[in-house]
Amino acid sequence: MDTSKTVGAATKTARVKQDADFIFHELTRSICPECKTVIDAQIILRNNKVYMRKRCPEHGWFEAIISSDAEMYVNSVKFNKPGTIPLEFSTEVKDGCPLDCGLCPEHKQHICLALIEVNTACNLNCPVCFANAGIGFSLTMDQVERMLDRFVEIEGDPEVVQFSGGEPTIHPQILDMIQAAKDRGISQVMINTNGVRIARDDKFLEELAKLKPVIYFQFDGLRPETYLTIRGEDLLDLKLRALDRLHQAGLDTVLVAAIERGVNVDEVGALVEFGLQQPGVCGTVFQPVTHVGRHIPFDPLERVTIPDVIHGIVEQTNGRFVLEDFVPVPCCFPTCQVNSYVFVDGETVVPLPRMLDIDQYLDYITNRAIPKAPNDADVRAALEGLWSASAVAGTEKTAGQFQCACGPGMDLGYELSHLKNHIFQIAIKDFMDPYTFNVKQVMKCCVGILVPDGRVIPFCAYNSVGYREEIREKLTMQPKTASLASRPTQGS
Ligand code: SF4
Ligand code: SF4
Ligand code: SF4
Repeated sequence: MDTSKTVGAATKTARVKQDADFIFHELTRSICPECKTVIDAQIILRNNKVYMRKRCPEHGWFEAIISSDAEMYVNSVKFNKPGTIPLEFSTEVKDGCPLDCGLCPEHKQHICLALIEVNTACNLNCPVCFANAGIGFSLTMDQVERMLDRFVEIEGDPEVVQFSGGEPTIHPQILDMIQAAKDRGISQVMINTNGVRIARDDKFLEELAKLKPVIYFQFDGLRPETYLTIRGEDLLDLKLRALDRLHQAGLDTVLVAAIERGVNVDEVGALVEFGLQQPGVCGTVFQPVTHVGRHIPFDPLERVTIPDVIHGIVEQTNGRFVLEDFVPVPCCFPTCQVNSYVFVDGETVVPLPRMLDIDQYLDYITNRAIPKAPNDADVRAALEGLWSASAVAGTEKTAGQFQCACGPGMDLGYELSHLKNHIFQIAIKDFMDPYTFNVKQVMKCCVGILVPDGRVIPFCAYNSVGYREEIREKLTMQPKTASLASRPTQGS
């Protein structure tokens, strides 16, 4: 018997080529989660999910999930709008993105929403805290005024400032800081708070109500266990009390929930329903926990992503929402944020994407809409206003844009001053961490942190690349900013 053919055939069979179990989608740049060196990163699609895969020469391979719905991720590309160049830049192009923040002249978008972190102190000690609140700095009034002036120089007509921390309500001059932002004509001033002081301090709430900032209120769920895990204590009663007091004080409030796998993904539907029912609550924002600063142990392959929240809302709200009600935000990179808007009138709840084909207006690849009907340009401008990081729920501006988007044929039946109470916003923002950091996204970031030296640093770069640590160290070491005046005083 001639065995050579058999051996040859067997060998040939053993060497049959195999298909990879993924689709190579694109190459981008990222950082090593260990040493923060800038490295190449591959975006791959596998089993209808999207992963970032990268290798640091020193620390080896890393893989993290960036979207649990590849179809949604890939389809979002068409929502990528041309950026708007800011009036001024603060740094030069030198070492390449993301080491030149910023903004440097290579940045592709202006800043829609600027944050000022006024302190590092807090009256809570959450196990999950991207700011790693604790001992550090407390900005002076003079520093904040100069930062606001710089924002006006850079933007000309800045739209939104959000005061954050630490816990901004315990800064002794926070009310003056809010006033200073308003004095500069900044139309929307927000305060990002855990609500502890609001729940306990009558005098403070009274003074806050006179200034009428929009309250960006940390509210993670409706179960005590959720707060025990994410905040380290059962805060549910305190949160409900703060919410009630905000409404009594006439302050518009947006609920902001940090979402973590195995903790509160199953509460996202209830959080939307709760928000829809609360007078004075004009939106719910979901932020998958950002694994920077302090966080509970996590598996990068099991992170919560935007589609997890969308699917959760759809599945947990008894058919009130469908996947198509959620549309990527074009001003930033469209994989960063997804929004929806709802008209609410008693039992009637109608998402705006049911009233018109939003894709037709916000598809920038085919530019299908402009100009066809006489009011198409107005509708697109209104939708761009709503689908922007600068859109603030509960304002007459947002209500006007909603009415305009519905077109002249559909009168929603309210003056803008009342209509604003019938428009509810749902936003889902997936801030990046060192595992998921994508230079492509951060180059078009429209959310910036103002720092006292005049820079504006894109939020995800600030948290992931090392800017937060650098700036905290510098500010903490400055004698005039190391004041202990804002030491946490429970319920102060
Ligand atoms: S994120 Fe923007 S500002 Fe920062 S280095 Fe990159 S392009 Fe420049
Ligand atoms: S309330 Fe906010 S700033 Fe304070 S510890 Fe918790 S997450 Fe950090
Ligand atoms: S903050 Fe992060 S997630 Fe948001 S727009 Fe900027 S880069 Fe994207």
